[in-house]
Amino acid sequence: MMKFISEFRDPARARALAGEIKKLAGGRWFNLMEICGTHTVSIFRSGLKSLLPPTIRLLSGPGCPVCVTPQRTIDSIIARARKPSTIIATFGDMLNVPGTTSSLREEKARGADIRLIYSPLECLTVARANPEKQVVFLAIGFETTIPSAAATLLSAGRSGLSNFFLVPAGRLIPPAMEFLLAGEETRIDGFLCPGHVSVIIGTEPYREIAERFGIPCVIAGFEALDILAAIRELLLMIDEGKAGVRNLYPRAVREEGNPRARKIMAEVFEVADAEWRGLGTIPRSGFILRPEFVGYDIDLVQPVEIPPAEENPLCICGQILRGTAEPDDCPAFRTACAPSHPLGPCMVSSEGTCAAWYQYGGDSVISNR
Ligand code: SF4
Repeated sequence: MMKFISEFRDPARARALAGEIKKLAGGRWFNLMEICGTHTVSIFRSGLKSLLPPTIRLLSGPGCPVCVTPQRTIDSIIARARKPSTIIATFGDMLNVPGTTSSLREEKARGADIRLIYSPLECLTVARANPEKQVVFLAIGFETTIPSAAATLLSAGRSGLSNFFLVPAGRLIPPAMEFLLAGEETRIDGFLCPGHVSVIIGTEPYREIAERFGIPCVIAGFEALDILAAIRELLLMIDEGKAGVRNLYPRAVREEGNPRARKIMAEVFEVADAEWRGLGTIPRSGFILRPEFVGYDIDLVQPVEIPPAEENPLCICGQILRGTAEPDDCPAFRTACAPSHPLGPCMVSSEGTCAAWYQYGGDSVISNR
């Protein structure tokens, strides 16, 4: 059993695994989708695509939380940031996401009070220090981060803080997987399931999808060998005709996930239909606050008026998130759109597909179709 991180990056082992994958693929074409921004970045950073045969297509799905947040939500956050009575607390990725007319970074430069945080709990310190202001936490993320938003809200309630609020924009990964499979717009032969999300949800939610759609799902860690081993496993399962779930990340993911985190999440949030950028509304794929906590939802407490949202007409983030296009297909990639002047969220987020292609170079697999 490998224990040290260097072992998960061993080039000789990686080449051996890549050789096995090539043999298993035998010249056949496979579309394998990762639905986790950290996997996307890891695949590019470690140059895995160049090790794989060109017939293995690794498609990046809707695995970046900032990227899937609809333009309307971004616009309403920007409008709220302009209010002198508001402090926006957010993780760094949100700062540069372009809204229809502005971004949080531009609003910050104009004087808006926007705080970058590393943990939602920091919001409570900010709220205590600024009792005359409304402190609004942008609860954008997947199953991994939403439990900490829930814990923060409960803590705010216990401390009697009345100026802490949320924008509840969390999303669930398994409904997005089902949506892509049911839509049949992209052929997906297997899923590389997200390690971080699986730490919370465990293996069961994927099992239902695997059985319903007859597709293999493999939970993978984030090192090069983790991902290669998961790809090999997917090919083996396809060859064996086995739909199901295999957990190749047992050092972090337990079959039952993290029931405690899910309990906190369920105490505060309930599942509801939600809109995703590029995918539209997906049934039961997002979170809203439970009736007893709706007083924390800033959009309900104090709605903001915004004009109709418009995405940049050049941007094809939506298609990239559905796995039907790659950054090279976008006319703006590396020209009008770059990390220093992004036109869409996929170029902003550290987990965005366009940003990963820009930073590490993309080997187009679509061109091999
Ligand atoms: S390169 Fe820029 S404009 Fe094109 S899809 Fe990506 S984020 Fe959008």
